[in-house]
Amino acid sequence: MTDTSFPAGDLLKGKRGLIMGVANKNSIAWGIAQQLAAQGAELAFSYQEALEKRVRGLAESIGQDFLIPADVTNDDEMEACFKTLQARWGTIDFLVHAIAFAGKDELQGSFTHNTTRLGFQRAMDISAFSFVDAAKRASAIMPSKENGGGAMVCLTYLGSERVVPNYNVMGVAKAALEASTRYIARDLGPEGIRVNAISAGPMRTLAMAGISGGKTLMKTGKDWSMLKEDTTMEGVAGAALYLLSDLGKSCTGEVLHVDAGFHAVGVPDISEDE
Ligand code: NAD
Repeated sequence: MTDTSFPAGDLLKGKRGLIMGVANKNSIAWGIAQQLAAQGAELAFSYQEALEKRVRGLAESIGQDFLIPADVTNDDEMEACFKTLQARWGTIDFLVHAIAFAGKDELQGSFTHNTTRLGFQRAMDISAFSFVDAAKRASAIMPSKENGGGAMVCLTYLGSERVVPNYNVMGVAKAALEASTRYIARDLGPEGIRVNAISAGPMRTLAMAGISGGKTLMKTGKDWSMLKEDTTMEGVAGAALYLLSDLGKSCTGEVLHVDAGFHAVGVPDISEDE
């Protein structure tokens, strides 16, 4: 059964892909998964061990049963994950990377004073390098260009381009993720594999709860946006559908902002009487 707010169709009929990063029903990866499934895709889910029960329940609710444990910091698990995919499906057509992590202490106050060597390395490893690693492994089992190639998306945030209070080391990791997206896109372009990033506005998820002042980020994300509304899961999932299906045919190396226009605002509204 698929959530009715995600339009159904057959844009991804016959396509198979890996979703990395479902933690619960609020996860961006889960919104994207529902949209892709509603368009006919067959999905595999990789997850952090402790989350198996929850991820299994969600996957089964949309008729999917292919789950693979994979902590992105563990080379053996990553190797096994893509081997398992290849053994069952042979090839995959798309990859969704919706994974990030930084310690709570590093997501508050002064970036300069609160960022430790270990915290920096961990944020970069989990939030940026893991996409490079997953892209390398996924591209090895994607069809040739003549047979349709493939597509990948990762999730990023405006804190990579602008200073966002408390986002700190995660902003630096997202800048690395976006740059990696462009380099991967160039490497894999000749193989017919498109690689893009979605820069989503603030959304109420577990990851967001870890950022100090998340409520203010949510409120300004809406109040200062052009649309005067929160970023919706439907909007982000729709962008993923565009980028991962043939609708996104000529699009690669792109960071697509899906944030109700917030990223393009220079100065928030000024009232007439000022
Ligand atoms: P979430 O907490 O639901 O998802 C984060 C996921 O990362 C979880 O599934 C978690 O298991 C996974 N993860 C963390 N460390 C891992 C590891 N070592 N190995 C494997 N998986 C690991 O939160 P979300 O907001 O859905 O985050 C998904 C992506 O979207 C992240 O890249 C996040 O930075 C990005 N994003 C979120 C927002 C937002 O406002 N929520 C905005 C823009 C971008």
